[in-house]
Amino acid sequence: MRWTGEAEPGTPYWWDVLTEAPADDPLPERCDVLVIGAGYAGLSAAIAAHDCGARVAVVDKDEPGHGASTRNGGMFGAHPRLSWKKLSSQFGPEVADALFAEARPALEWAKALIDREGIDCDLQETGRIQLAWTREHFESQKVLARHVAEKSDVAVEMVERDGLGQEIETQSYCGGLLFPEHCGLHPAKFHQGLRRAVARRGIPLVGHAEVTELERDVHGFSVRTVKGRLRTEKVILCTNGYTTPLFRWHVARVFPLPSYIIATEELPANLIGHLAPGRRMMVETRARHSYYRISPDGKRILWGGRASMRELPVTEAARRLRGLMVGVWPELEDTAISHAWWGNTGFSFNHTPHVGEDRGLHYAMGFSGSGTVMAPYLGAKAGFRAMGDARGETAYAETALRRDILHPFVRPHFLKAADIWYRQVVDRMENRRAR
Ligand SMILES: Cc1cc2nc3c(=O)[nH]c(=O)nc-3n(C[C@H](O)[C@H](O)[C@H](O)COP(=O)(O)OP(=O)(O)OC[C@H]3O[C@@H](n4cnc5c(N)ncnc54)[C@H](O)[C@@H]3O)c2cc1C
Repeated sequence: MRWTGEAEPGTPYWWDVLTEAPADDPLPERCDVLVIGAGYAGLSAAIAAHDCGARVAVVDKDEPGHGASTRNGGMFGAHPRLSWKKLSSQFGPEVADALFAEARPALEWAKALIDREGIDCDLQETGRIQLAWTREHFESQKVLARHVAEKSDVAVEMVERDGLGQEIETQSYCGGLLFPEHCGLHPAKFHQGLRRAVARRGIPLVGHAEVTELERDVHGFSVRTVKGRLRTEKVILCTNGYTTPLFRWHVARVFPLPSYIIATEELPANLIGHLAPGRRMMVETRARHSYYRISPDGKRILWGGRASMRELPVTEAARRLRGLMVGVWPELEDTAISHAWWGNTGFSFNHTPHVGEDRGLHYAMGFSGSGTVMAPYLGAKAGFRAMGDARGETAYAETALRRDILHPFVRPHFLKAADIWYRQVVDRMENRRAR
């Protein structure tokens, strides 16, 4: 496999443009609302609580954004990960209906946030196509399309196998489901824009300030961070796939699952136009699915996927992802790789995010790999709810996180077993059906 040498393996392609100075505001002694975690969810929660009149501070264990929010694929859409039937069996038909109905308002809200805060993040209405790996998947997509059309205002179209050539040059898929209004953006520029919106409001943003202790009393919380102590009335926890063991309750409900991405060297415009004439965000339906797109400047292919269920050296993950890419587009056999990186998604056991509260400790997490819209959206909901503002109403308050008490202890073994199960059994079964 050839590398261009443009970046050290491990460095996200998106970081090439980052210009933000380190977040070294001093830690205040007290505030009304302390937000823990400075990804999309935390920054958005801070903006919402501040705009309701609270004195807010944000702390992050690392440099803000170094979680998933500057590492992701930049696919920007809001649709429940699960079918209506699965949502209905887990949360009841009314909640399933409400989750479907909330998909369009969530996307509109996130677009309006970008507009209102003047965030330049290469937002493009590319549409997103889910590519069916097997005929069975295509049939399930038809059911999903019907439910989406019946139960939400989200635009959706089926693309038959014969019509796929207008979207993508490959024989790998059996058809697709297109969300024409979904978008692509530059995730790190989106995060940078939210950071600036926080700074404009005078909200202290303190990096490298891991919260290591949280004590509750009648007045709120006494919080210890590695940069000192502070008092706060309320806390909003927005740590998703990076939640530290201090938050045992949340760690037992939302677990980190790594996802990897590679970027190709710059490719000729006519080659990119030939491979992906639809210029969509593209996501497969197979269990260990790949997701891929053209970079916002139109020059590279970015290819992501769950190369493994557990952490893997990034160069080995890059080799696996490149193999998957060449499987779909043999034309890229000799293409060099410029960047390879990874990040943690935060999966809930029901693959659905949740915004909740426990005696003054609010949280928004469990985005399960789909957080570019849902993390800022539900972060804001948590901010409004912390302030008792009616704008905090959401069906995602009804999607209680399921608990798996053993998971933190057996996780390494669980993920190893799951990795083998998917690679040796599920992949083979799906590939046989795809033929
Ligand atoms: C490789 C990859 C690709 C993805 N692609 C897409 C995509 O294309 N489309 C999509 O919709 N979603 C995608 N996602 C998911 C999306 O990026 C996330 O859902 C979203 O960024 C979550 O934002 P967040 O603010 O909740 O968490 P994060 O951005 O992960 O931030 C959590 C923060 O909490 C901090 N923290 C943790 N513990 C503590 C503590 N004790 N004290 C202080 N701070 C703490 C961490 O340092 C971290 O900065 C992808 C994710 C990954 C990893």
